[in-house]
Amino acid sequence: MTVKFLDLAAANCELRPELDTAIARVIDSGRYILGGEVEAFEAQYADYCHAAHCVGLGNGLDALHLILRAMEVRSGDEVIVSSNTYIATWLAVSMVGATPVPVEPNPATHNLDPERVEAAITPRTKVILPTHLYGQPADLDPLVELARKHGLRLVEDAAQAHGARYDGRPVGAHGDAIAWSFYPGKNLGALGDGGAVTTDDAVVADRIRVMANYGSRTKYVNEVRGFNSRLDPLQAAILSVKLARLDEWNDRRRRVAARYMDGLAEVAAVRLPAVPQWAEPVWHQFVIQCEERDPLAAHLSARGIETLIHYPIPPHLQAAYADLRMPRGSFPIAERLATEVLSLPIGPHLPPDAVDEVIAGIASFAREAVE
Ligand SMILES: *Cc1c(COP(=O)(O)O)cnc(C)c1O
Repeated sequence: MTVKFLDLAAANCELRPELDTAIARVIDSGRYILGGEVEAFEAQYADYCHAAHCVGLGNGLDALHLILRAMEVRSGDEVIVSSNTYIATWLAVSMVGATPVPVEPNPATHNLDPERVEAAITPRTKVILPTHLYGQPADLDPLVELARKHGLRLVEDAAQAHGARYDGRPVGAHGDAIAWSFYPGKNLGALGDGGAVTTDDAVVADRIRVMANYGSRTKYVNEVRGFNSRLDPLQAAILSVKLARLDEWNDRRRRVAARYMDGLAEVAAVRLPAVPQWAEPVWHQFVIQCEERDPLAAHLSARGIETLIHYPIPPHLQAAYADLRMPRGSFPIAERLATEVLSLPIGPHLPPDAVDEVIAGIASFAREAVE
């Protein structure tokens, strides 16, 4: 039996008739930039996130970038980010000329550790920017508290957390602005690139909407030097179909996660994800930790089981950030996680017997290690 890491075609196949109808509707509309499909999705997604506004954008990186620009973060400013996030979080900070200031995660939850954030705040800090990594919300209450205390904005990178809840309330309006990606492999994924911002802040929403459309509210009248980053009507129509299934598909991911948790509970060689009592994760990834990570991945691969590493190199050790001069050893938690994390196959369409196959593969690795 081979177990694919994620079977996107199978997922989209289930919705094929509805997707075909949505796509045909856009073709027949003659409207291929902005318009009713985008507005309808924006209203649905704002509602889903309990946010006052949603602005559709070209991708998740632009969502982060335009939020920071709308908040007038610029050169000389600092933005606190997690040391073990996907590099997009850092790149958005660099795009406005500001400096990413990494803070280590709590190694059990993989998310930004609020207890370490305060020490990183300086007079230049403008924003705290946690990532809800792997679909598990970061600890938002203490971060909201810190932002308020120091007069900072709280921006969330929720690219992996569609539908996740913090203390019973959906992620999407706790902070000042929340960035979303609809990259195909995300829990809410388009059939191409897409992104959005949700926020209760009307000024931020309006600025982003204008900046994403060439700095223009009225055609050929340009208020600011803008960008071109709009959510396609085609992707918006597809996302409306998929949003209606998001909760159900997240529930299926939860069942996969629960099966892994059960099946691997007794395997001492691997550490399972920790879920704080206030978190309702949506399992964008199911990430275990293992000191013998590479041999384990090879063992699973030999049995036809695909795994991935999120992420093998932390941003501060990437050539892209060599100029920050943060050598190996600067962020030991992120560096250790990069050598120990392993993402197991997960998705709404992963059958229980495939999950059992992965569990059996890990158990056999652990037995061989003991012998
Ligand atoms: C996917 C992702 C992004 C970027 O989204 P794109 O739509 O690919 O630009 C940003 N941050 C995190 C944590 C992500 O996983």
